Amino acid sequence: MGKVVFFSIPAYGHTNPTVEVVRELVDRRNEVLYYSFNEFKDKIEGAGAKFICCDKYLPELRPGDEKKIGKDFSGLIEMIVDTTISLDEKVCRELKEFNPDCIVSDSLSFWGKLFAQKLNIPYICSTTTFAINKHTAKMMKQSFIEIIRMVFGMRRINKKIKLLRRKGYEVKNFISIVSNDDDTNTIVYTSKEFQPMVETFSSKYSFVGPSVSKVIIGPKERKKKLIYISLGTINNKNINFYKNCINAFEDYEVDVIMSVGSDTDIKSLGHIPNNFEVKNSVKQTTVLQETDVFITHCGMNSVNESLYYGVPMVLFPQHSEQRMVANRVTYLGAGLMLKENKSKDIKDAVFQVMNDNEYKENATKLSKSFYNAGGSKKAADVILQFICDSRAIKI
Ligand code: UDP
Repeated sequence: MGKVVFFSIPAYGHTNPTVEVVRELVDRRNEVLYYSFNEFKDKIEGAGAKFICCDKYLPELRPGDEKKIGKDFSGLIEMIVDTTISLDEKVCRELKEFNPDCIVSDSLSFWGKLFAQKLNIPYICSTTTFAINKHTAKMMKQSFIEIIRMVFGMRRINKKIKLLRRKGYEVKNFISIVSNDDDTNTIVYTSKEFQPMVETFSSKYSFVGPSVSKVIIGPKERKKKLIYISLGTINNKNINFYKNCINAFEDYEVDVIMSVGSDTDIKSLGHIPNNFEVKNSVKQTTVLQETDVFITHCGMNSVNESLYYGVPMVLFPQHSEQRMVANRVTYLGAGLMLKENKSKDIKDAVFQVMNDNEYKENATKLSKSFYNAGGSKKAADVILQFICDSRAIKI
């Protein structure tokens, strides 16, 4: 029996895949602690882990901060350092008591990695985005605004790093916080076939594919084609886009399910046509099993899940990481980039993807690579093997 500690950030896309891995570890009689946030308490406890709430240790968001998510790198570093320092005393004390065999920390929950280094606990990185190294980082083209923010943020970053050092964290520079070397064991929730430049990653990277709860693809019940629309769980308050989608499909013989996010007021969208079902949230992995075309913001999990079920996409990325995902889908022929947020463009792109079978065929090819990657079972195997190897080194 092993003892594993998970850390993640307050985001569904980064938490969802790990929940199934926790379930798998607990089913195999391992003990799991999970440092996360209240929104995810039920999911985490439902999978059998002990949930530890970190909400009050997160820095307060200032007005407008949520719009910068994924775009403001220096803001991200500041947030990581502030969170690490405010959690430092509590977590270090608890980890010394629990004495885990390893820490599995999300690739953006850098505080998990910093605790592991400080307390000399074996560490595995859990990556719900593409794996990033110096080669793939070049593909993530930053916008001009993102670069400006980064340049002006450097002084603030350096100040924060000094603070970390004073607290006993041996940090060289910010790059050593946000990137891993080839020797770091890393679980990546996509397939080797979908990962760009996969040949540049060492054998320490395990590409396990999406970690979703159940794989039941039954026969389709619907008479009409189904379009599913979602901009994910974070930057999803785009009323103008949702209205354009309604205009695009209200007069057509198609069904549309549109998930608009928990903060979007559905009434603000005006009249909802009969062929539309608009919800604040849906069980995406269930809806995708019936979907013909998915209009997505290109969050890595949404794209992985879509390909897992062989669903071709219309791609509407919102920031550089999502653009990298969208470019990969386009390159592999499983989707089409949306030209502009206009009703006509949305309609044309969806019907092009729906009527040209090649998109579906390419999505189906990738789907096979995702099934074969092993999912949550494979991720649990990797963690348990890592624990065995680390124990052998200690002996
Ligand atoms: N999701 C869901 N229901 C919804 C919208 C999203 O279950 O109505 C899930 C989706 O299946 C995925 C996650 O939320 O696992 C979104 O992650 P992604 O990386 O795609 O985007 P983010 O929300 O992080 O921008």
